[in-house]
Amino acid sequence: MAGECQGKRMSEQMSGNDDMLPLIVEPETLKILLLTNEPTEHLWLRCLLDRAESFNSQLAWCSDLSALHELLNQDSFDVVLWDCNCRDEDPLVFLGLLAIESDQAPVICLSAESERQMSKPIFQAGGADYICKSLLSEVLLERTIRNAVLRHSVNHQKDTRSHIDTLTGIVNRRVFLDRLHQAILRSERNKEVLGLVFFNIDDFRRINDALGYRSADQLITMLTSRLREGLRRSDSLARIGGDEFAVILENLDNTIDANHVTSKLLAMLSEPFIISHRQLVITMSAGIATFPEAGQTSEHILKHANRAMLDAKREQGNSFHFYHQKMNVAVERELELEAEFRTALRDGQLRLYYQPRVSIANDQVVGYESLIRWEHPTKGLIMPDQFIPAAERSGMIVPMGYWVVEQACRDLARLQELGYDDLVCAVNLSFRQFYDKKLSETVFRIIYNADINTGNLEFELTESAMMYDQEYTQNCLGQLAQLGVSFSLDDFGTGYSSFANIQKLPISTIKIDKSFIDNVCTNVDDEVIVKAIISLAHNLQINVVAEGVEDKEQLNFLLTNHCDEVQGYYYSKALKFESFLNYLESSQSQWPAGIDVIG
Ligand code: C2E
Ligand code: CA
Ligand code: CA
Repeated sequence: MAGECQGKRMSEQMSGNDDMLPLIVEPETLKILLLTNEPTEHLWLRCLLDRAESFNSQLAWCSDLSALHELLNQDSFDVVLWDCNCRDEDPLVFLGLLAIESDQAPVICLSAESERQMSKPIFQAGGADYICKSLLSEVLLERTIRNAVLRHSVNHQKDTRSHIDTLTGIVNRRVFLDRLHQAILRSERNKEVLGLVFFNIDDFRRINDALGYRSADQLITMLTSRLREGLRRSDSLARIGGDEFAVILENLDNTIDANHVTSKLLAMLSEPFIISHRQLVITMSAGIATFPEAGQTSEHILKHANRAMLDAKREQGNSFHFYHQKMNVAVERELELEAEFRTALRDGQLRLYYQPRVSIANDQVVGYESLIRWEHPTKGLIMPDQFIPAAERSGMIVPMGYWVVEQACRDLARLQELGYDDLVCAVNLSFRQFYDKKLSETVFRIIYNADINTGNLEFELTESAMMYDQEYTQNCLGQLAQLGVSFSLDDFGTGYSSFANIQKLPISTIKIDKSFIDNVCTNVDDEVIVKAIISLAHNLQINVVAEGVEDKEQLNFLLTNHCDEVQGYYYSKALKFESFLNYLESSQSQWPAGIDVIG
């Protein structure tokens, strides 16, 4: 490639001088982002840049901040040209933000003000250079851009050397605080939860004395690798001190999520390390501080995570504490719920309830959805919304899900024995269960043992589960479809899947989410959406079920618009198996095959 050839030529000229800084090869084509709200300025700069001799340029132009965010999300740039008039807040504050947004690409500012007035504050706020527009020429523009890119590249290399911990290769405290600061700004803007976890090895001094420095260093390196393995790529890891590490967890769904990541990491680190053919087991203590609860600045949050870690040290090893007492209470409550739920599954406190699905055309029950309940010995009936999130976080959702499939198949077999041959039994599959490696194998075993007509079994999956990995979905649905089961897309309309994607999957039914049905008779948007879903689905020969139908008006609307089936309190809530049987029997229009109607 042209850039590589140029690099070779230059390095050949300079070879023989090993002490020099690694050679910086100017990119052949510079990607330049221009932020100005004056279209003529864009054309003018375009002309000047076209005449540059030392580089080619690709100029992307945006005129406002939302377009800027979009461009920066899609691409990275070598340099940003910013007309200081284009902003809606203090230019120097904005400059700081721009530097972060542009992933630290150098920002060259343009303005009508004189250099004398502007240069100093611009440099202080992190700008790479300043050009007064009245002096702007092709030579000045080319030189300023070229020098900014070169300076940036040299600084970056120097920074990399001084900011990396030499033993572990991860960043040190200084860079970490800077990253934390940037992560806080991002969290603030996106209204997301951020967690900082501070880890410290228990009794490290003793380990150091016992092993000697070299082996202790080896332990630190191995421990770093394990931490890295347990983290997502976007999580930032740093070595803060000799035996101290910190991790930034961004985009957490909620504060309590930090608890799960920390438990997982502590469990990974408690596995033995093999050092000089000897097994070594260590314990660690961790402290968690979250933004915004634990403070507004990076220093505060780090300090508070450190303080929480010191609290954890008072307990036996592998403990962690939140900086906020109320979080510790919440974690304790959740751990209690998880433990109780484990007992519930083992001791048979879970029940399956069944909610009828009714064909609109003839008012007949054509199927039902299986919905889980927890009959708690002292707290009474607990609804899934109260325990499924905890089951999901602890991984218990997978064994729970298999219990549901098993119970649903047992009851389906009983129904088939009673002559209800045509009812479709729908079972919810959670995201985690769908991606369980043993799904097809386990479902096959359960179905085989239950001795049911598999054509009556339908799995409900959400859009997020189906669209997360479409290749996997294709394969998995294909395998299960071979057993005879069918699939429906649950909560349709709440995700992002398009009919183009749905078309590729073997889905026989779409369930329109209750949130659209709620106001279908009063909100024009919902009315239009529901009509469109029904018509698009029918074009693909897909059956449509409306969820959460509560009144006659909604039912009439769905009837008029040719929806196939409804499910909702208008007909019945979810019922225990025996009550569901009574419902089937008393529903005048649905008589099981082979049963005579008397009177
Ligand atoms: P979902 O799959 O969307 O289930 C429909 C929910 O809507 C059920 O709540 C049902 O009782 C409720 N519903 C149905 N008709 C009406 C109505 O007319 N009005 C109102 N207000 N609600 C109605 P439920 O049983 O509390 O389940 C909530 C969620 O928990 C389910 O939403 C599903 O995501 C999950 N879930 C329930 N059982 C299972 C299960 O066995 N496995 C898995 N993975 N998830 C389950
Ligand atoms: Ca469902
Ligand atoms: Ca649903």
